[in-house]
Amino acid sequence: MPYRGLLAHYGPLLDLPAHTRPVTLLEGNTPLIPAVSLARQLGGGFELYIKYEGLNPTGSFKDRGMTAAISEALGRGVTTVICASTGNTAASAAAYAARAGMKSIVLIPQGKVAAGKLAGAIAYGAQVIQIDGSFDDALTMVVEISRKHPISLVNSINPYRIEGQKTAAFEICDGLEQAPDWLCLPVGNAGNITAYWAGFKQYNNLKWSGLPHILGVQAAGAAPLVLGHPVEHPETVATAIRIGKPARGEQALEAAEESAGRIIAVSDEEIVAMQKLLARLEGIWVEPASAAGLAGLAHEIAAGKFDARGRRIVAICTGHGLKDPEIVTQGMDKPKIVAPQLQALEEVILG
Ligand SMILES: *Cc1c(COP(=O)(O)O)cnc(C)c1O
Repeated sequence: MPYRGLLAHYGPLLDLPAHTRPVTLLEGNTPLIPAVSLARQLGGGFELYIKYEGLNPTGSFKDRGMTAAISEALGRGVTTVICASTGNTAASAAAYAARAGMKSIVLIPQGKVAAGKLAGAIAYGAQVIQIDGSFDDALTMVVEISRKHPISLVNSINPYRIEGQKTAAFEICDGLEQAPDWLCLPVGNAGNITAYWAGFKQYNNLKWSGLPHILGVQAAGAAPLVLGHPVEHPETVATAIRIGKPARGEQALEAAEESAGRIIAVSDEEIVAMQKLLARLEGIWVEPASAAGLAGLAHEIAAGKFDARGRRIVAICTGHGLKDPEIVTQGMDKPKIVAPQLQALEEVILG
């Protein structure tokens, strides 16, 4: 049967109201790619898979939750949706709203959104508003305005987002024909870690048995769950997880504890180094935040705090590298210019 999107594929496992009217871009069904070279580089002796969520229709995992949230809203007769976003939620909300014939409004923190994300939101026709403040300020504002006006909130505090995002856990278990031993992923507002843990728990014994340990990874400059208190001015190159007060922080801590896993922080240098390593060793280019889960795994292995031997580990790469090209091109030398003559080219290539 042809693939018809997440709600068609996993709908009966998702807690969505009967009025839901599916709006899909055939999201999900993303590849689980074996990363043999990277596993060897990290010491070897274990199986490593990349769940490449950057291959969703708008370039990030946000499409999984958005198909659910927009489908529910459409069935309820909603005509306008709103969200606060570090970029990827904005692009996803705008695309699914466009497909549903709705208006979308997105609030982004001023000057802190990667070029490919902002361009997406604009291309899909969202009304984009910059807030002279942080993501956390923007989130507070959209919550208030959606209470006061007939505008629906599609941030991950919307419960249907979490329902849709559970499908990634189902796909991983279906792909491996069991749950992995460990799941490593970046943690920002903590909707995704919450959804994975809910998905794994629901699928356990339903189709395959077993539960993974969860390694949640924050950026050191935006690590409220590691520090144990909100961060007033979060800072990191990984803009998608530049969040000081995670909306689902409690649930993230629960997922780590219940799964006998943990939440750790890694430096921006470790994140950028992993982004580069993954692209060069495996041909998988992800945005900085998306490399945080793997950076955390590398950090723990190097610190001797993680016995990877014989384990089956899945790392979630949440968004595509094309979202944030400037991270790669800024500060680099421009490609060399050569005369259109064979000899000139030979000199450059052969030295
Ligand atoms: C949203 C996002 C995250 C963080 O997910 P949360 O659910 O906020 O924890 C990580 N990486 C990318 C690319 C994202 O878009």
